[in-house]
Amino acid sequence: LDEQEAFDIEYWLLEEAKLRRMPKPRSLAGRIAYVTGGAGGIGSAIATRLLSEGAAVVLADIDRAALEAAVAQLGAGYGADMVRGVVADVTDEAAVIASFAAAMVEYGGLDILVSNAGISSAAPFEETTLETWNRNMAILGTGYFLASREAFRILKRQGLGGAIVFIASKNGLAASAGASAYCAAKAAEIHLARCLALEGAPDGIRVNTVNPDAVLRGSKIWQGEWRQQRAASNRIREDELEEFYRNRSLLKRSVFPEDIAEAVYFLVADLSAKSTGNIINVDAGNAASFSR
Ligand code: NAD
Repeated sequence: LDEQEAFDIEYWLLEEAKLRRMPKPRSLAGRIAYVTGGAGGIGSAIATRLLSEGAAVVLADIDRAALEAAVAQLGAGYGADMVRGVVADVTDEAAVIASFAAAMVEYGGLDILVSNAGISSAAPFEETTLETWNRNMAILGTGYFLASREAFRILKRQGLGGAIVFIASKNGLAASAGASAYCAAKAAEIHLARCLALEGAPDGIRVNTVNPDAVLRGSKIWQGEWRQQRAASNRIREDELEEFYRNRSLLKRSVFPEDIAEAVYFLVADLSAKSTGNIINVDAGNAASFSR
């Protein structure tokens, strides 16, 4: 390098460093998001991502203690005025309506719904009780219906468009042995999202789905019987599950809550203004490999 070239490179590096330090405009500034299951592993990662882009976020969850902890933690990071928590059971129509009303009173509007609250349950089909079946349909089917209907009503009334994202599952498209109620309910979510895409389009309301594959880290779902059942049905030990899912994927990578949050961010931001009725699989390529 001659002296001039060295100078040019140094100058360019300094300019780059300056640009990196400049505050970036935040793409969701001024928008209001409502996230069900916001106290859970994936829900709180989604809330974090939306907050990082400047949105105000209402977390709804049935678990009061976990909700309070999540709101306190996110409030400390992004400002207490940017985060609210509402205790609501997504299967309870009156509670869902009241929780959206509370969000409207708090922030004066709504732009984004992420319907994510969920459970998991596993049992061989012949042992699946009516109670288990009804619980899956209630939380995953009816819960997504109630939250998105309320969001639809508000978004249509406002007349400013909006974005809805359903966190469904790989299991809503691919069958999984020993989890029939969960799979059927997740399939219902995916098809409901497509129907809403049709009904929302004239009003600029976009509705898309994210299908995660197994997200073990941070998820409460993976702390209970689901974990034991998945290990048993794959004939592996519970401590081998993470490696099992990683190795099964095309990319040989684990999926984390933050990966789901990144896809949600894309689907609620203007980046995806031309996408509705779509599904993003966040599965390290697993869905593509079904045909192998
Ligand atoms: P999680 O258990 O960590 O979080 C789920 C949250 O939903 C919890 O905070 C829980 O309290 C809340 N919730 C449960 N029932 C509710 C109800 N009736 N009303 C309101 N809130 C309720 O689980 P997660 O892994 O973060 O799952 C989030 C979503 O992602 C679920 O819909 C799940 O089916 C889906 N998903 C998860 C995985 C995975 O491997 N973790 C894979 C595919 C899809």
